[in-house]
Amino acid sequence: MSIKENLKKIKESLPSHVKLVAVSKTKPLADIMDAYEAGQRIFGENKIQEMTQKWEILPKDIQWHMIGHIQRNKVKYMAEYVSLIHGVDTLKLLKEINKQAKKHQRIIPCLLQIHIAEEDTKFGFDENELNEIITSNDIQQLANIKIVGLMGMATFTNDIPQIRKEFKQLKSLFEKTKTVLPDLSELSMGMSGDYEIAIAEGSTMIRVGSSIFGARN
Ligand SMILES: *Cc1c(COP(=O)(O)O)cnc(C)c1O
Repeated sequence: MSIKENLKKIKESLPSHVKLVAVSKTKPLADIMDAYEAGQRIFGENKIQEMTQKWEILPKDIQWHMIGHIQRNKVKYMAEYVSLIHGVDTLKLLKEINKQAKKHQRIIPCLLQIHIAEEDTKFGFDENELNEIITSNDIQQLANIKIVGLMGMATFTNDIPQIRKEFKQLKSLFEKTKTVLPDLSELSMGMSGDYEIAIAEGSTMIRVGSSIFGARN
């Protein structure tokens, strides 16, 4: 199936409250334009340099989401235009995003990444660290960022009950966090292999790459 057909099929299956981030990392401009012409406007990338090159060339009404792990010294390259940063996993990073956003007189929306998977290679806060960060005085000082939700990645496994359990944990943490930060609205969870489970467990934003654009090399 073509990119347009894949996209159409996925979009038709989504409840109206779920946003689709089309993950275009490693994919050429022509593929992104296929999706754009089919109406897609939100694209996710995991490398700041690659995302910035694409932003420079492609239509300016595309909303670029940074979904990958971020090096602090590269935040400056995306501060002008990035519309959501999914993978914020340290206070230091949040401070750097704030600093760079200020230079552009912007408020950059961010998601805090939560570690839910069993693998310890995946980045993110645990529950205690999350509580610490959302109740810290530091965070109130950061006028140029806005925490709008949480993001997580489930374990890479075929064990569906395991995946479901991890998404349930994240959803429950999301609800708890809302008691402290009532403006939280986004729960970014679910990828090509598990987004249906994620939606059933309360996702508001799925990040789908290979099911739209085909396998990556
Ligand atoms: C690559 C990536 C995705 C998309 O993965 P697919 O399995 O191709 O849908 C989603 N989220 C993150 C954080 C990624 O790095």
